[in-house]
Amino acid sequence: CGIVGYIGRRDVAPLLLEGLQRLEYRGYDSAGVVISGKSGDLRTVKAKGRVRELESRIPKRFAGTTGIAHTRWATHGAPSDENAHPHLDTAGTVAVVHNGIIDNASELRAKLTADGVVFASETDTEVLAHLIGRSDAETLEKRVSEALRAVEGTYGIAVMHKEFPDRIVVARNGSPVVLGIGEKEMFVASDVAALVTHTRQVVTLGDGEMATLKADDFRTYTTEGSLTTATPTTVEWEA
Ligand code: GLU
Repeated sequence: CGIVGYIGRRDVAPLLLEGLQRLEYRGYDSAGVVISGKSGDLRTVKAKGRVRELESRIPKRFAGTTGIAHTRWATHGAPSDENAHPHLDTAGTVAVVHNGIIDNASELRAKLTADGVVFASETDTEVLAHLIGRSDAETLEKRVSEALRAVEGTYGIAVMHKEFPDRIVVARNGSPVVLGIGEKEMFVASDVAALVTHTRQVVTLGDGEMATLKADDFRTYTTEGSLTTATPTTVEWEA
């Protein structure tokens, strides 16, 4: 349903919660957030219900400058804490938020289960977390595109990985992803409404396109890895 992400220098949790609140008008049944903490660990908080409920569950010490968050509109699995995004692989190294529907999720799930993977949710999204987590390709970008090659369906996704703490990787196929280009900070969202208070410079991803966001720069490319041109445009927005 809604995605928001940030990488930069500011404390990320309040920024993500504010972004989620700006996406509330779209409707959702649960929400969640993951940040990379000081130790590099991925720390997740999820809640069925409103963003306010999620906010009340955020621990006092929840510091980090990189994170992604999601409001969910359930397609696979009932609204619940467990089914709320982000979804992680079993080792907790990869976190994924996803808008859309993975059509071949049940086949992929059956294959992964046969391979010994134990699922923590009923969502279609969780297959992506395990696929990315199991890839041993050299870069996060390659791991994500490899996983995406196995899935059929629609997605707007944002991915964080413990071994690649300097970046957020995003991809789009049939579900909107917009990058917000700031000064030494980058945003991603499924809707410009979530980022216009911070930057008016945006790049809209096309279908089949991916992007890597780092605090100081970004690049866009196809799922095959060839760079694409991305010229930020200025969005007009009535506050
Ligand atoms: N299909 C995913 C799920 O059911 C994502 C739904 C959404 O777009 O919020 O969890």
